[in-house]
Amino acid sequence: KLTKLDDIVSLCKRRGFIFQSSEIYGGLASCYDYGPLGCELKRNVRQAWWKAMVQMRDDVVGLDSSILMHPLIWKASGHADHFSDLIVECKKCHTRTRVDHLTDKDGRTAEESGGEPADTKDKVCPNCGTVGNFTEPMAFKLMFETEMGANADDRMTLYMRPETAQGIFANFRNVLDTTRVKVPFGIAQIGKSFRNEVTTKAFIFRTREFEQGEIEFFCEPGTDDQWYEHWKQQRFDWYVSLGINPDNLRMRDHAQDELAHYAKGCVDIEYRFPFGSGDWQELEGIANRTDYDLRQHQRGMRSINDWIEAGRDLTKIELKEESQDYHKGPLSYFDEQQKKRYIPYVIEPSAGIDRSTLAFLVDAYDEEELEGGPRNLLRFHPDLAPVKAAVFPLVKRDGMPDIARNICDGLKKHFAAFYDEKGAIGRRYRRQDEAGTPFCITVDGQIKEDNCVTVRHRDTMVQERVNVDQVLNYLRDGMDN
Ligand code: ATP
Repeated sequence: KLTKLDDIVSLCKRRGFIFQSSEIYGGLASCYDYGPLGCELKRNVRQAWWKAMVQMRDDVVGLDSSILMHPLIWKASGHADHFSDLIVECKKCHTRTRVDHLTDKDGRTAEESGGEPADTKDKVCPNCGTVGNFTEPMAFKLMFETEMGANADDRMTLYMRPETAQGIFANFRNVLDTTRVKVPFGIAQIGKSFRNEVTTKAFIFRTREFEQGEIEFFCEPGTDDQWYEHWKQQRFDWYVSLGINPDNLRMRDHAQDELAHYAKGCVDIEYRFPFGSGDWQELEGIANRTDYDLRQHQRGMRSINDWIEAGRDLTKIELKEESQDYHKGPLSYFDEQQKKRYIPYVIEPSAGIDRSTLAFLVDAYDEEELEGGPRNLLRFHPDLAPVKAAVFPLVKRDGMPDIARNICDGLKKHFAAFYDEKGAIGRRYRRQDEAGTPFCITVDGQIKEDNCVTVRHRDTMVQERVNVDQVLNYLRDGMDN
């Protein structure tokens, strides 16, 4: 099956899944809005993640931390100094591109052709097509800055968080002190992140404002390899359980020279997206971050006075050195059973909610040639489908609309249902196919004799007569299987 991204983009726009942000003003690059169907889909992706990662587990708790945080957090995490992309500018058209995203005339990045990343001699400008005409690589900072406070003595530069993870580390102590969690345990959160991306790409794949679902799983050093393997498997299986074809998924281990200096291991779960060179693109990263983050935040906590004395200016300070007995510091953990104190290691599965929404859209998209013409449909897993059931009166008379409305209202108490009486029945079915609705229910004149309605299945188009009183159970069974 070859799905083109253009087909997805046009379906999303046509059916109100996803719009360009600020479209009536000409649009804002790399920002998108989710329309009526899209926001339901994304909400379901979020909910499926939360249910599997938090609610169904005994060892993970949830968190919702604020986007704006103390600026020192970003000094401690390393983002303030190092979170930048290496970019070059085309000398002819002045388009800036991430060095690792540049491709040669065969569409291969440096990584794919085995070349040196900084060697741009054979690389093509993605805007004007000029070859090898770039400036020297330079660092481009990715964090958006903003200002907080009105007065000279409380004014400071803040950063829009570029990941949700740091809010979790900053609350590690709070969660330990207020709940019954014991290592090993995880803290999960879903929320917005912001990055001033240089090369933006393919629809909602890479945007400047996006949502992440992240877990920091804290474990005893020495057990980290085992938990790393656990999370790799859990996260891979999550996508498959929601309908992604495993042939379109793979795990790619980072090479040793690709790893951040503190990371012990990192793997990307990649999905075969229908664009770009090679098509396989990161969906989620899972890393063994060791005890790096908690240790860094202990240094950050000790640097507060330096920061105040420097006029609350991050650029004027260096983090304090780590203390000798850091393993007994404020972010350490005391294991009651073993009578042992240590800084936990962290396994971090970091997923993109928008990016996985795109993968679910791409994977669900299908076109069929039928006698009456082509049928476009989204074969969403029922948990993800924006609308679970649509209810139609066959015609707008003989009391059918009232009965259909009644059925629809009854279903709405349990899940998203949609009533539609406009247009030919075949067209109503096709509209729901395109929205990914698993079931359509049609009320026709025969109901007066048999008290039954017709239930049509999206994927097979098979139709069955079902007693009105049994419709809810019937749909529930269908959605569970
Ligand atoms: P890249 O190197 O491709 O820019 P990254 O490795 O920096 O990405 P991470 O920091 O590991 O990405 O982010 C974790 C996840 O968050 C990614 O796998 C992706 O799903 C999502 N994500 C990151 N940046 C963006 C973005 N700009 N737009 C949409 N999703 C994103």
